[in-house]
Amino acid sequence: MSTATAEQAILDAVKPQLFIGGHWRDGAEGGTIPVEDPATGETLIEVADATVDDAKEALAAAHETFQTWREHPPRERGDILRRAYDVITERTDELALLMTLEMGKPVAESKAEIAYAANFFRWYAEEAVRINGRFTVNETGKGRVLTLKQPVGPCVFITPWNFPLAMGTRKIGPAIAAGCTMVVKPAKQTPLSMLMLAQILEEVGLPGGVVNVITARSSGATMEPLIKDPRTRKLSFTGSTEVGRTLIAQSADQILRVSMELGGNAPFLVFDDADVDAAVEGALIAKMRNIGEACTAANRFHVASGVAGEFAEKLAARMGEMKVGRGTEPDVKVGPLIDDTQRGKVAQLVDDARERGAKVLLGGARIDRAGYFYEPTVLADVPDDARLLDEEIFGPVAPVRGFHSDDEAIAAANATEYGLVAYVFTQDINRAFKVIEGLDTGMIGLNQGMVSNAGAPFGGVKQSGFGREGGPEGIQEYLETKYVALNV
Ligand code: NAP
Repeated sequence: MSTATAEQAILDAVKPQLFIGGHWRDGAEGGTIPVEDPATGETLIEVADATVDDAKEALAAAHETFQTWREHPPRERGDILRRAYDVITERTDELALLMTLEMGKPVAESKAEIAYAANFFRWYAEEAVRINGRFTVNETGKGRVLTLKQPVGPCVFITPWNFPLAMGTRKIGPAIAAGCTMVVKPAKQTPLSMLMLAQILEEVGLPGGVVNVITARSSGATMEPLIKDPRTRKLSFTGSTEVGRTLIAQSADQILRVSMELGGNAPFLVFDDADVDAAVEGALIAKMRNIGEACTAANRFHVASGVAGEFAEKLAARMGEMKVGRGTEPDVKVGPLIDDTQRGKVAQLVDDARERGAKVLLGGARIDRAGYFYEPTVLADVPDDARLLDEEIFGPVAPVRGFHSDDEAIAAANATEYGLVAYVFTQDINRAFKVIEGLDTGMIGLNQGMVSNAGAPFGGVKQSGFGREGGPEGIQEYLETKYVALNV
């Protein structure tokens, strides 16, 4: 099959409608939203635009289905997740192509996201049958404490465009395992992977109404009524800190249980005893995975002054070798950014750093071709006041700065309102622990450039949010603890 035919075949396989109560249908007013290929700027397909009434209908379906779904045997919930894992894995090639078309990342990276996304289903298939309360004897010897774990109820999930599948399965997997139902709203720029996921869940026997998917042009107007509706019992959001702040305020109305996976500004620390070549390889992953459009992307490289020059030059050499192009082309390592607004923001941040005195070792400009491409860029001697040290870059840009002491490195790393992840490269175990304990982040990669793992608690502190996704912690977000005082 030619590439163009394969692309058309996967687009034809998507149902571009709302999935409510187990039925596919158009939005009540018949509106649609175009989904663009960021590598060409062309429209791939149009998907349904939900009205507020459509959204409320999705919530009604989740609410009604919850009454029966919560009683489903845990093993059955787990088996559905496991079957979905198998189907996603079997269809990796098609799903990866679809993801690349809507989001832009190279197909190899889409495949990696699909494996990561599917693994949340496998992991929580295994957790569904391990939801335990506890039983203890009171300290006086009289009376007993019993705790039950019960599903929180209907959930609302809002996910971003940068990981179109995994940011959904990280919530959907544990919620299904726990016995919750949900309304999922993917980002309008990348709804296709989520719509395909809904098709797969339907195919593997998930009862209608457990997962409802809506796509909407006006996300704020469509989702606020659901967040303020007393039938909703939990909101889980992944996206920017700015939108997260608005949603937390909306959630206050009914004291909604909330999880927030928000923005990041990850420091990448390289100490003078580190293996510089290994640090450069870690930096390539931490910076260039997902074209730098990741909340976990290394945003600032703080490097011991004795090795900062060597590190920056080696990083520039490695980033300079990365082929830029449409993610479907062979050997491409760097795809387009999601849209022109995002590319404009990256360009502004680089221009600002350059004007303040940063030295451009590589790149530093838009690429003149169709789509939203920006050159892999390395900046050295970045001054304190450069905006990109404070703001999430979300692009293939690596600013490098030197430091003179461990305390200075820790203070620089913590000098941000964000606290998602940090990367630390050192061979000295004592130094590693001092730094790890001193960093204000929810996660740390020690001598590695990636932390994502379905079995580990992903999440941040400070303005990177609260709540954890993945691992045993992740399912607790969807469970209430009920305590029974036993007079025995
Ligand atoms: P965003 O603009 O905050 O959008 C995220 C989601 O929220 C999208 O589905 C968006 O819908 C929706 N949305 C926007 N405004 C809304 C509103 N007023 N009410 C309800 N929903 C609303 O973020 P993004 O640009 O898509 O994603 C990038 C951000 O996500 C970055 O800051 C990144 O760090 C963060 N992120 C965090 C994590 C993590 O785990 N901590 C993971 C990935 C990404 P529409 O786009 O359709 O309007």
